[in-house]
Amino acid sequence: MGTLLLKGKPVSDSIRLALEPRVQSLKKIGIVPKLAAIIVGDDPASQVYVRNKARAFEKLSCESQTYRLDSKSNEENVLTLIDRLNNDPSAHGILVQLPLPNHLDSKTILHTVSPNKDVDGFHPENLGLLLEGNPNFIPCTPHGVLEILRHYDISVSGRHAVIVGRSNIVGKPMFALLAQKFEMGNATVTICHTGTKDLAAYTKQGDIIIAAAGSPNMITGDMIKEGADIIDVGINRVDDDSEKGYTLVGDVNTESVMGIANSVTPVPGGVGPMTITMLLVNTVKSAEKCVELVTGW
Ligand code: NAD
Repeated sequence: MGTLLLKGKPVSDSIRLALEPRVQSLKKIGIVPKLAAIIVGDDPASQVYVRNKARAFEKLSCESQTYRLDSKSNEENVLTLIDRLNNDPSAHGILVQLPLPNHLDSKTILHTVSPNKDVDGFHPENLGLLLEGNPNFIPCTPHGVLEILRHYDISVSGRHAVIVGRSNIVGKPMFALLAQKFEMGNATVTICHTGTKDLAAYTKQGDIIIAAAGSPNMITGDMIKEGADIIDVGINRVDDDSEKGYTLVGDVNTESVMGIANSVTPVPGGVGPMTITMLLVNTVKSAEKCVELVTGW
């Protein structure tokens, strides 16, 4: 069986193209969609993520402002800034870059972001609306996964989707989306995690596998069923002798599923490019909501 590589870039490009006229319509009435990104401390990976987000916003003629707080900032410093941005009409989206330094309670901080500006979709009100089947802002990575499935015409309804990972940012919202009676949902969903005994017994039953465990190469060809569609959300650094000193690999051992799976997303270049695109989508949507002009997603 030839295994199709589900690249994220064409999906991401077509969504960004569809956003352009929406951004232009907003501009005509004096609104520029704007993201306020808060970064606390100097975690190098977070710096790269925030820089990439800022670039993507500029490319689409949107704005992005990064607020850098010292790693020793206390909770009050962060909450005061969020409060200011919640009340700033020019900021349509607020993003708190995770992970936060250990001394800060991410729950308290994420809960302070106004649900109307929560373009990451992490606020409990937005997660609740998603569970209810009436989403406001959908978390970007799981939303990006659905857009990949849609773009490549991979059917979801009636199939068995097996998710590996139960985090609040990927696994759980992915479950909520795939199980809903939505156009890109209506699947039978199994969610596996570190408490699952005999993971392979479940992954072998998956028509669709969503791997989001953060464990390099853990899903191998002998753990999947023939013809499965595999979405690899994992991004893991594995140290090696290369010039960079590491290689990025997913949670799926891609080589070993080739010829068995119907399709698989590559790492890098699969789900990765989708996350920022869906952040753009949510921020444009938030700006449109201010003037009751939502036209898509
Ligand atoms: P997390 O550490 O918060 O959660 C991982 C989940 O996987 C946990 O619920 C755990 O129970 C489960 N798990 C871990 N090891 C397991 C195992 N051996 N068997 C079964 N279940 C296991 O991670 P996360 O934030 O959800 O991210 C998961 C992966 O996705 C990471 O590699 C992360 O870098 C990547 N990620 C990628 C994007 C993207 O844009 N592509 C976005 C977010 C996360």
